[in-house]
Amino acid sequence: MGLMTKTSSWHGEEHEIFTESVRRFFDREMKPNIDRWIADGCCDRDFWLRAGEAGLMGGSIPEEYGGSGGGFGFDSIVLYEQAACGDAGWGYGIQSIATHYILNYGSEDQKAKWIPRLVTGRSIGALAMTEPGGGSDVQSIRTTAVKDGNQYRINGSKTFITNGMTADLIVVATRTGNESGAKGISLVVVDTEETDGFRRGRKLEKMGLRGNDTAELFFDDAKIPMSHLLGQEEGQGFYQMMRQLPWERLLIGITALGAMDLAVGMTADYAKQRKAFGQRIMDFQNTRFKLAEAKTKCELLRSFVNDCISRLEVKELDPATASMAKYWGSQVQNEVMNECLQLHGGYGYMSEFPISRLYTDARVQMIYGGTNEIMKELIARSLDDR
Ligand SMILES: Cc1cc2nc3c(=O)[nH]c(=O)nc-3n(C[C@H](O)[C@H](O)[C@H](O)COP(=O)(O)OP(=O)(O)OC[C@H]3O[C@@H](n4cnc5c(N)ncnc54)[C@H](O)[C@@H]3O)c2cc1C
Repeated sequence: MGLMTKTSSWHGEEHEIFTESVRRFFDREMKPNIDRWIADGCCDRDFWLRAGEAGLMGGSIPEEYGGSGGGFGFDSIVLYEQAACGDAGWGYGIQSIATHYILNYGSEDQKAKWIPRLVTGRSIGALAMTEPGGGSDVQSIRTTAVKDGNQYRINGSKTFITNGMTADLIVVATRTGNESGAKGISLVVVDTEETDGFRRGRKLEKMGLRGNDTAELFFDDAKIPMSHLLGQEEGQGFYQMMRQLPWERLLIGITALGAMDLAVGMTADYAKQRKAFGQRIMDFQNTRFKLAEAKTKCELLRSFVNDCISRLEVKELDPATASMAKYWGSQVQNEVMNECLQLHGGYGYMSEFPISRLYTDARVQMIYGGTNEIMKELIARSLDDR
């Protein structure tokens, strides 16, 4: 099983070769470490470096910044394969999103300075939009960046930030102007090593994704050079975020598929060896039907995300369609995890059985990246506006 369908327009031989090498890398470097990352609440920095050496993080990044100059298909393969091998700890999804913000809106100097660090894994990236007072209403951001000479002084706090405890480069959404709503928002890059007044708060305890660090961030008169603004002028942040969201949303649909393929495979294996009433669990019609339904959901999602990747590669993925991949993908992921856990009986509820973790890891997919309710609003808006 894999992400690609051979009929997809983005698919090529180089993607198949890349898939094989990603799989081998994850078998060797990721699978043996997943449990330890969960115990530590964080993926080790060494892994980021090894992933960088193996070329996993530069698939869609131009060669001049250390990437291999391909398209989003390569990043999609990495994310799918990560989920399909059962990991939700390595925070590459957010790394990829942060890197693309810099690639799309950064100046030449910014790109040359930051992107090679992210592609090689020397730096870990994060994206800080959500604040304690609200995440869905992005326009209500209250963190401020006030000009002071050739610097900004940033004040405010962010929460639920993926890679928050470890990130070196954080794309922060902040208010630079006096205008309320979307117009006053800008994106700035905070280099955590060189920023006085930046502080990490608690590493948040979560019900799932326990191998990934999620944190609070605080800015108390944090000083960053004005040259860290992304884009040529202030006030572009909201529009920049809206343009990047299709990738963030699609990648949630892609990781949903990877986890679903894994769960369906492991549940079929379990049902074939577990017996009740003198027969295999697999021989009960209910089991067969539940697994048939789950497999159908996988194939529908595979077709849809492949189509979305093809559209993204030619810059034709609109926000409503990307929202469908996020909303529907995460919803069917949760449905499938629920059924697969049920077919494991009591063992499914035991932490030592991987399905229990796939179940808890799945839940947040309906929340982050914009909640599924917000996704439905965006989809409905596309009908309202026609
Ligand atoms: C593990 C994890 C990792 C995360 N990583 C990041 C990250 O790296 N960076 C980052 O910036 N954020 C991150 N987030 C934050 C995430 O994006 C937000 O939690 C999410 O956008 C929802 O915001 P909120 O939690 O403030 O919920 P709220 O906005 O308070 O929403 C609460 C409820 O109200 C509903 N609701 C709100 N508005 C509407 C509406 N208009 N119509 C209908 N229903 C509505 C929501 O759907 C939800 O059910 C992460 C969250 C988690 C849990």
